Amino acid sequence: MEKFGGSVSSFYERDETRQEKAMEYFQKAFDGNADIKLAKLEREKSAEEIQIINLADIYSNMLRAKYNLADLNISESNVHIIPDDKWDESQTDTSGFYSITDQRAYIREPISKMSFFATTFHEFMHFKSHNSISLGDLGLEDVNPQTGEFVEEFPKLDRVQLGISTWGQIMGERAYTFFSLNEAITEEIVRRNIWRAFEHPVFEKERRMIKDHVDKYNAVLPEGREPMSEKLLFMGEYKPSFIKKAMYKLRGVSTKDKFYFGNFAYPKERRLLKIITEKLSQRLPEKYKSSDESFEAFEKAMMLGINESGELMFAIIDAFGEGSWERLGILEDIDSKIEWAESL
Ligand SMILES: [Zn+2]
Repeated sequence: MEKFGGSVSSFYERDETRQEKAMEYFQKAFDGNADIKLAKLEREKSAEEIQIINLADIYSNMLRAKYNLADLNISESNVHIIPDDKWDESQTDTSGFYSITDQRAYIREPISKMSFFATTFHEFMHFKSHNSISLGDLGLEDVNPQTGEFVEEFPKLDRVQLGISTWGQIMGERAYTFFSLNEAITEEIVRRNIWRAFEHPVFEKERRMIKDHVDKYNAVLPEGREPMSEKLLFMGEYKPSFIKKAMYKLRGVSTKDKFYFGNFAYPKERRLLKIITEKLSQRLPEKYKSSDESFEAFEKAMMLGINESGELMFAIIDAFGEGSWERLGILEDIDSKIEWAESL
């Protein structure tokens, strides 16, 4: 399945003229020819940041190749770095987001090159996973509802499917489903592939900084304590305060010492995904030999779209009973959802 009209991989609209016009809009936005308000808040990117964007493009295409999807190449013109003081206008509190209507990824001023890669890779996975839309009754309007800007024949979206999440009109009601799990899969892909990407020379200086901290930490470690490694420090998901306190205690260094290591996004959502994938492989061992295999079923559904992966829905119902698929998809607070998953 190829992408057409920018990142949009499937489209529901009977009227061919309306469909053509909307796809034309998406392609124009993707190619950088649409007038987008938020994009104007960006700051200029450095040569190294452009290198990192290209690297995120390569890594996210690897996930497409895994599911026999053609490359979708995203250039630096589809990415906007927004300075901290202007980020409020984006109205989100995350470190980045992807807009299907703008065909752009917006990244908040990054604290390091590694974190910039992590966020860009995450947003590119949204870009390159299943993106499907259907037009609303009115089809096309002339104002972009996100930016309030006048746009010639902006597509009025009724329903958007991004990976396994859906929002819009569902059975006559506004609904938003599978948001938590879609974010969890996306960030888990980042976590599983990121360390390999850091072999690129553009990250050398920051890797050396991590190694420095690891060496200092290990040098004063009391006997019997497990030594730290660069990878463990980055992937271990320690709270920054834990590491700082530990180092302070061990050698009396300043807790103001600033450094970045991986604290991956959506920890609770990823915990929910972990519970479900582990239980899925335990309940259906013939279908999924390990929790990695059941994770891949989620990854595949995200890349190919929920319609193509009804298989996952039947597996969930098989393993957890009638109604479990719906419960997994509904929007509710993440703590109760985790509690429910643990009770299964
Ligand atoms: Zn996301």
